[in-house]
Amino acid sequence: MRTPIIAGNWKMNKTADEAVAFVEQIREGLNATSGVDIVLCPPALAIPAVAASVKGTKIGVGAQNMYFAESGAFTGELAPNMLTPFCQYVILGHSERRAYFGETDEGVNKKIKAALAHGLTPMVCVGESLEQNEAGETHSFVSGQVKAAFAGLTAEQASVCVIAYEPIWAIGTGKTATVEQAGAIIGGTVRTAVAEILGDDVAQQVRIQYGGSVTEKNIAELMAHPDIDGALVGGASLKPTFVELVANAA
Ligand code: PEP
Repeated sequence: MRTPIIAGNWKMNKTADEAVAFVEQIREGLNATSGVDIVLCPPALAIPAVAASVKGTKIGVGAQNMYFAESGAFTGELAPNMLTPFCQYVILGHSERRAYFGETDEGVNKKIKAALAHGLTPMVCVGESLEQNEAGETHSFVSGQVKAAFAGLTAEQASVCVIAYEPIWAIGTGKTATVEQAGAIIGGTVRTAVAEILGDDVAQQVRIQYGGSVTEKNIAELMAHPDIDGALVGGASLKPTFVELVANAA
């Protein structure tokens, strides 16, 4: 039985003060929801304040990115061991990082291994562009991304990972994939790719989220699909109605 997981990716929004004020608004409502893991992923500078604000609740904290080395001449980067005092999760390979900051499958694979070595749960993002979707390349592209991300992982390591299937054309656009589309790729492509490299047991344990314009209105329908184990939520995680979204997912 896979516990659903809803994560809010705040992207580059909210100062530390704004983040804490928002957490104070939603904390009680989120904490009252049972049957679902909840993760807030603020911008890096707000992470310590958000971690302090959710202490003693069931709400987890995640980073939006990290580097794979523990220290060194990597200007502007954050190491896994810098996150572990505050975070339990880290988003890796988000399509915005791949598109704007040159992230590669190889780099994402290194980051996943580093996160796991430090006890952080990676939320690994995969997903195709509109062009790839229209060209009928979704299955081969997404399957390749999953296999590259998980290359060299043991079954034990892979089974604790979370994967977010986020079609790029659905992120921040208001266009959600239909439950049938999302479920077909999550079950038929993402979970199958994990099974092909690590076996069925691992594939059945890995939690796979859908991401792309998820709101409090469409979450319940998405969650009703047996292969969809939660959501990575952008825009809708910045509003007080995120509480409703999480409650509707549970
Ligand atoms: C995201 O940030 O990963 C995302 C899916 O954004 P949105 O929910 O706004 O589409």
